[in-house]
Amino acid sequence: MRVVLWGTRGAITTPGPAKVNHGANTACVTVSDGDRMLILDGGIGIIPLAERIMATRRPGEKQSLHLLMSHLHWDHVIGLPFFTPVFIPSFTLAINGRDAGQIASTTDRLFSSTYSPIKGTKNLGAELVYRGLDPGHTRMAGFEVSHTELSHPGGSMAFRIQSGERAVVYATDHEAGDRVRDEGLVELSRGADILVHDAQWTLSEREQSKGFGHSSWRDAVVCGLAAGVGTLVLFHHHPHHDDLVLEEMGRQAAAMAGSRMDVLVARDGMIIEP
Ligand SMILES: [Zn+2]
Ligand SMILES: [Zn+2]
Repeated sequence: MRVVLWGTRGAITTPGPAKVNHGANTACVTVSDGDRMLILDGGIGIIPLAERIMATRRPGEKQSLHLLMSHLHWDHVIGLPFFTPVFIPSFTLAINGRDAGQIASTTDRLFSSTYSPIKGTKNLGAELVYRGLDPGHTRMAGFEVSHTELSHPGGSMAFRIQSGERAVVYATDHEAGDRVRDEGLVELSRGADILVHDAQWTLSEREQSKGFGHSSWRDAVVCGLAAGVGTLVLFHHHPHHDDLVLEEMGRQAAAMAGSRMDVLVARDGMIIEP
């Protein structure tokens, strides 16, 4: 199994010389096993992924892509209008999430004449398919996918992606603090090799930002330890946090986790192989 972090920021891209190490692309992650791949969220990070897909495809060959959406906030969909495969007839893109109808209308709006010269998804080359998630387990691109609801304004979903003995959990846009939702996430993450968790805030920011729908690095560590995961990945970085701030957050998180769990600070382009 291979996890690639193509985009690791929350909210907006704010590139600059102080953010070269961790990058500025908004949320997009792939989980793959051999030639099977699931794409998680369509933030700006989906653009370098598109470059990779285009560079490795055989021209004219039919290709199906599977995208799984945590939710539809801007930072998680803003890369879709620039995702090259949607313009090419040999691609099919299945977009999966909570509500197929809502995903279809949101995607169509992203390509509407207000925002795009394409004037609606009906003019795209690729075939777009929208799917709502069933309760319980779903089989997608050969992976076993299960999900739980997170605490976030308007909602967000965490996904567990299982291939054989290996499991990766993607849990972004979550504010720890609701007991039922937190326990649901711990249960979903139980024994996972990798947990990618929202860690937008420092501890002092977290105090001042209740209700915004995001967690601190400490919340992420608490969840990872309770679930007994192998590696915690601090994700959805605040756009104002530069490399120095993120590295300090990572040091504090690693100190709290000790030898019980590895801690990584997500960075655009990072590859993790459980
Ligand atoms: Zn977000
Ligand atoms: Zn959000």
